[in-house]
Amino acid sequence: MRIAIVTSEAAPFSKTGGLADVAGALFREYVKCGLTAYLFVPLYRATVRQFGPFIRRTGLELDVAVGRETARCTVWCARIAASGDVTLSDEGTEREPGTVFFIGNDDFFDREDLYGTASGEFGDNDRRFAFFCRSVVETCRSMGLGLDVVHCHDWETALIPLYLKTAYRNDPSFAKTKSVFTIHNLGYQGHFPPLSMEVAGLSWDLFRPEGIEFYGKVNYLKAGLISADILTTVSETYAKEILTPEFGFGLDGVLRKRAEVLVGIVDGIDYGDWDPSTDTRIPHVFTADDLSGKEQCRRELIKRCGLKGRRTGPVLCFVGRLAGQKGIDILIEALPRALRGGALCVVLGTGEQRYHDRLAALAGDFPGKIHFHSVFDEALAHLVYAGSDIFLMPSLYEPCGLGQMIAMRYGTIPVARMTGGSADTVVHVSHVEHFLCGDLFGEAKGTGFLFGEYSAEAFVAQIYRAVCLHRSAEAWKRLIRNAMSGDFSWELSAQKYLELYAGRER
Ligand code: ADP
Repeated sequence: MRIAIVTSEAAPFSKTGGLADVAGALFREYVKCGLTAYLFVPLYRATVRQFGPFIRRTGLELDVAVGRETARCTVWCARIAASGDVTLSDEGTEREPGTVFFIGNDDFFDREDLYGTASGEFGDNDRRFAFFCRSVVETCRSMGLGLDVVHCHDWETALIPLYLKTAYRNDPSFAKTKSVFTIHNLGYQGHFPPLSMEVAGLSWDLFRPEGIEFYGKVNYLKAGLISADILTTVSETYAKEILTPEFGFGLDGVLRKRAEVLVGIVDGIDYGDWDPSTDTRIPHVFTADDLSGKEQCRRELIKRCGLKGRRTGPVLCFVGRLAGQKGIDILIEALPRALRGGALCVVLGTGEQRYHDRLAALAGDFPGKIHFHSVFDEALAHLVYAGSDIFLMPSLYEPCGLGQMIAMRYGTIPVARMTGGSADTVVHVSHVEHFLCGDLFGEAKGTGFLFGEYSAEAFVAQIYRAVCLHRSAEAWKRLIRNAMSGDFSWELSAQKYLELYAGRER
């Protein structure tokens, strides 16, 4: 089976969030399994800065239509080895499995940021990603990749399934190509003014509610939703949630019409990147059987963050985007109460200025108790996951969420809102007594704490249960062992995608 994964970001080449982890890890898993897989991503400035020596020109250059003009697409490549390492590919070997194709155009992608700056999204994102989508299709055609599956992710790539159903419908290069479109977060849709229909080279016939019009605007995400052969999203619970007005962001009706091709497959985490027993980014490695390294990471984290408190109190943490979706409002409301009982807290996140200001003020009110790091720092994230005891994830909604899985793998117990992927990956501790008394009164089941109502009260109630259990070292160790024994690897999820690719006809 010949598969192309198309995404606007993929680790390790470019990353602003979970999409990069997921697309990069899925691709590496396919390569590891010996499948004929290709990856398509834009060639951003940050990619060149970090991977320049491994990236070479393929020799393919195309003039790609963007509205009434054309833009030059230069196709670059690198290779991912079965080990997951990035390597330079030999000339003339572009069609070999494991090739990463980078779509280059300096006007569009040679920028410091991927999608926009702190003051807002780039004004030409409709052009940038229409160009990217068309360039990918043209590259597949010119290279003669003969794809069975083109697997697109999020709105930036959503025009591809529509192009395959319209402009390229009768193109023999795509006669057997199925399109799969994965929704990572329905909250991000790519809304643009009507004239973007022309930028994307689409017929005005499609500018209607059954097409890709959305309340007077063009909605790129809708292009994928109405035209992909298979739709997926990143957890089973989220696949059900997005069919309802509460989680549907105005597209639940469109999705209900396509419900029979919509499947939820939970993301995994990259076990190469996230393994506490081999992690080179943490000062001390550890396993479920020997947690002494975790204790040392904890000390290091407390020291680095300048926290002061009782050695026995738990360290709480939050790692993620500072956005309404992540539940920052109730996090800020809950934190002062969560600190009772001697807890300390580290917050690592970047995002909306209003949350940044409020968190900075809160950290100022609780010096030595709350530390706020407003940076995107992957190495620090590893230390935070490893050195904390409790991971806070009060999301308003959470399509899948990687943080809770990473936390559990590092023996850090999630307190999470029961929505989307956190509902599917965290097993709620229903009876703390089972942990406190061994198996005396029943099996100690559970890997974390979940709450349903979106309120600081409901959140704090579960934090308190976690903090109480943390007071018993033995009980806490039992809980850590449960959390660390979960399987969040990509193997199972990648297998499910492969079955899905094989199972449905175009
Ligand atoms: P999202 O909705 O942002 O995609 P996920 O939980 O799916 O959320 O993935 C977020 C990813 O980004 C995780 O790997 C998390 O560790 C990482 N991350 C988020 N914020 C930061 C930060 N400030 N520094 C380092 N890593 C971060």
